[in-house]
Amino acid sequence: KRGIDKLVLANDSTIRRMKSLDRKGMLEDLERAMARDSIDWHWQPKVDMSSGRVLGFEVLVRWRHPGDQPVPADQLIDTIEQSPLLEPFTTHCLNKVLGQFARIQDRIDGASISINISARMLERSNFVDNLHEVIARHHVDPERVTLELTETALIANPAQAQRVIERLRERGIRLSIDDFGSGFTSFGYLREFAISEIKIDRSFITRFTESRFDQSLVNSLVVLCESLGIGLVAEGVETPEVQQMLTSLGCNAGQGYGICRPMPYEDVLGWMAQRGG
Ligand code: C2E
Ligand code: CA
Ligand code: CA
Ligand code: CA
Repeated sequence: KRGIDKLVLANDSTIRRMKSLDRKGMLEDLERAMARDSIDWHWQPKVDMSSGRVLGFEVLVRWRHPGDQPVPADQLIDTIEQSPLLEPFTTHCLNKVLGQFARIQDRIDGASISINISARMLERSNFVDNLHEVIARHHVDPERVTLELTETALIANPAQAQRVIERLRERGIRLSIDDFGSGFTSFGYLREFAISEIKIDRSFITRFTESRFDQSLVNSLVVLCESLGIGLVAEGVETPEVQQMLTSLGCNAGQGYGICRPMPYEDVLGWMAQRGG
């Protein structure tokens, strides 16, 4: 009987309150996890699919909520973005992954590191200076650091984005447009902004072999990027067929489960050695 009362009482506002309590608890746990250094980043290789050369690694956050399942990365980032932890989390991430990169940078064939950055970090006036300070402190070559930003970040506030991109460029730090094509893509900014790379959204790549539209899109992007001097990367490459078709269209850089799943940092050097690199 009491169970039923509880059920009836769990109306919308109760559920909302529970969810916000959940979030608060999660943020407190997250803060502790940063202090204890128990948040990890997994490394997923980006390779030249025609030669097999490793071009870089994208770092992806992994966190297991104490006594619980791992929290999906996009859900975790969503929560962080709406909280005061965004800046400390970003600083923590940069410190940790650039420190890790520094330790192996001489043994990974010149490969670079790609770090996802929340759009809202562009609003912080000291972001680029802080980033550069971390890069310099770890003696990392800025040209081997790429930031991945989604296009919504650039379109939402182009003037601000322009300023940040300019300062990144002065420092030699590269910029990649993530999830390209998934939003209301505007091609204008490819001309306006100093962009090094675009990553075609996974949704265009996973069913690539069956979709004429997706093939034409990739084909056009290959031509466009070549003429603009922008790197093109396919993400979500899951099968050899997709890999083969992408390279035959001239899209050589790829990332995905079919090439390699994201792996713990500790496995990166072993993985490099095992491919004979
Ligand atoms: P994203 O930047 O688009 O990252 C690629 C996501 O696709 C990753 O999911 C990766 O594990 C997954 N993936 C890689 N290859 C394949 C494939 O072949 N097939 C499929 N189905 N998926 C593949 P993950 O790690 O869950 O990350 C989700 C999102 O969370 C990322 O999307 C990124 O937007 C965000 N994120 C992850 N780590 C960070 C971080 O440290 N900082 C920030 N700001 N965002 C992060
Ligand atoms: Ca990314
Ligand atoms: Ca992406
Ligand atoms: Ca994404």
